[in-house]
Amino acid sequence: MSWFIRGLRAGVLTENLPEGQNLPASLTPGLPRRTDFATEQEALEITSLCPTGALRAEERAVHVTSERCVECMRCKPEQDWRRDADWARFADGGPLEGAFTRSIHVRIVDAGDCGSCLSELAQLNGPSYNLHRFGIFITPTPRQADVLLVVGPVTRQMLDPLKLAYEAMPAPKRVLAVGACAASGGVFGPSVMCAAGAADAVPVDLVLPGCPPPPLAIVHALRALCGQERPA
Ligand code: SF4
Ligand code: SF4
Repeated sequence: MSWFIRGLRAGVLTENLPEGQNLPASLTPGLPRRTDFATEQEALEITSLCPTGALRAEERAVHVTSERCVECMRCKPEQDWRRDADWARFADGGPLEGAFTRSIHVRIVDAGDCGSCLSELAQLNGPSYNLHRFGIFITPTPRQADVLLVVGPVTRQMLDPLKLAYEAMPAPKRVLAVGACAASGGVFGPSVMCAAGAADAVPVDLVLPGCPPPPLAIVHALRALCGQERPA
């Protein structure tokens, strides 16, 4: 109740994005990043910890393929981790044209999500993130969508429905792959049951790693797609 009264007194309905775009403590471990070790042997030992092949040693440095990282934290004690939320990277193309800067509609497709990416997405319309303040809206139909947001590794059963959703969207359109599964197949694909992520079905424009990516990282990715900000 106190936050409500404070809001009434201050006349503030929503908050700006946090200064420095840092993640709230303890919500997510963040993402590992390139780290230099004392010896080549030490670097090699770190890479052997990773269950998804996201770590690669080059002499004394360990590089991270973020799209493959499932945030299992096995490498956390040794590896440096980033605490910002600007995780998305353009895979192809770029943001939508200028006319979309102030408003886009997003169609979410669950292509085999475990539940956690969807759970983070469900927070976007709550008062903490309030996605509408950026002019970004979720739509139930691909025919009204400018952005196709895909979660899950794309199970074999979802390959065709995902393609149909993309084809039903009017141009211009963009595809955002959210989470390690949609970005690379994660721990599920490629396999007999799953593809290697959304790119196996549709042309992916922006990739957002994380397992799951926190809501703030999803906000940054959507804002990058409509040209409101540039990925770092
Ligand atoms: S946190 Fe990511 S990079 Fe580190 S071991 Fe787990 S999957 Fe690999
Ligand atoms: S990326 Fe992680 S959280 Fe998201 S659907 Fe895959 S396993 Fe679940």
